Amino acid sequence: MSLIVVGSMAFDAIETPFGKVDKIVGGAATYVAYAAANFVKPVQQVSIVGYDFPTEEMEELKGRGVQLEGVEIIPDKKSFFWSGRYHEDMNSRDTLITDLNVLADFNPKVPDSYQDSEFLMLGNLAPAVQISVIKQMKKRPKLIAMDTMNFWMEIALPELQQLLTMVDVLMINDAEARQLTGQYSLVKAAKDILTMGPKYLVIKKGEHGALLFHGDSVFFAPALPLEDVFDPTGAGDTFAGGFMGYLAKTKDVSFDNMKTAIIVGSAMASFCVEKFGATRLKEINHQDIDARIRQFKELVNFDIELV
Ligand code: AMP
Repeated sequence: MSLIVVGSMAFDAIETPFGKVDKIVGGAATYVAYAAANFVKPVQQVSIVGYDFPTEEMEELKGRGVQLEGVEIIPDKKSFFWSGRYHEDMNSRDTLITDLNVLADFNPKVPDSYQDSEFLMLGNLAPAVQISVIKQMKKRPKLIAMDTMNFWMEIALPELQQLLTMVDVLMINDAEARQLTGQYSLVKAAKDILTMGPKYLVIKKGEHGALLFHGDSVFFAPALPLEDVFDPTGAGDTFAGGFMGYLAKTKDVSFDNMKTAIIVGSAMASFCVEKFGATRLKEINHQDIDARIRQFKELVNFDIELV
């Protein structure tokens, strides 16, 4: 079983109350791949980088079972660069710089060798680009999930609305769900979004966990209360990688299995925030992941007797 991941591979500059890095490898697809490769192989990457993207990072990804045939390297341009600064509470950030560089001309091509994949994760990109990837699939994958952001709601709403009719799972944060629907109540926002196309909706609430909606059902996964959140960059993408990686591994796309998948996604995201960039994701092994998932079980496990 394989998982196709489409999205940015980038350099980031990040400033948090705990420190600062000027240039670290990031990008949505990078985080998704590092997280998902713990559960499913191969991860089939579709992205674009410039001449400056480190070969060691490519080798590291390959060594973890990430195929890079779908990653275009542009010899005379720089990789996408993003810079952000977090506020004191770490729940919000300001984007300081977005240098699209190679991403400005990203016209992804899905290699033939990826065509059998049954799982597709569309990272945050222009909706038209995400649509073009779905259209290239000769057989519709069993499960298509997507991320997006407020920017696309502002400048490409018609394309975004078309894309929503083509996917199974939408993963967004609470502010984005409110913006997309104009509803403050997340339950009302979820009801509206589930009429727009996706059958499943994940609303991420940062340190307050994540909600999974499907029909009239709802499930909640907390975030692990961590003493120090060092850098939240990529937590959402890491969540998506854990979620989709687990579903691809188990090949079960039922609501019940998605409940487990959002716990797995939350566990992976809890590692991501412990160090800058994807540093922590590269250090952990299966034992660390199992132990963290057990911690999550303990966190929400309680006996109650109704009298
Ligand atoms: P997250 O913290 O989950 O929102 O993801 C942060 C990652 O997304 C960073 O590593 C950035 O390189 C990448 N990123 C930021 N803005 C964009 C954008 N407009 N398009 C694609 N990737 C982006």
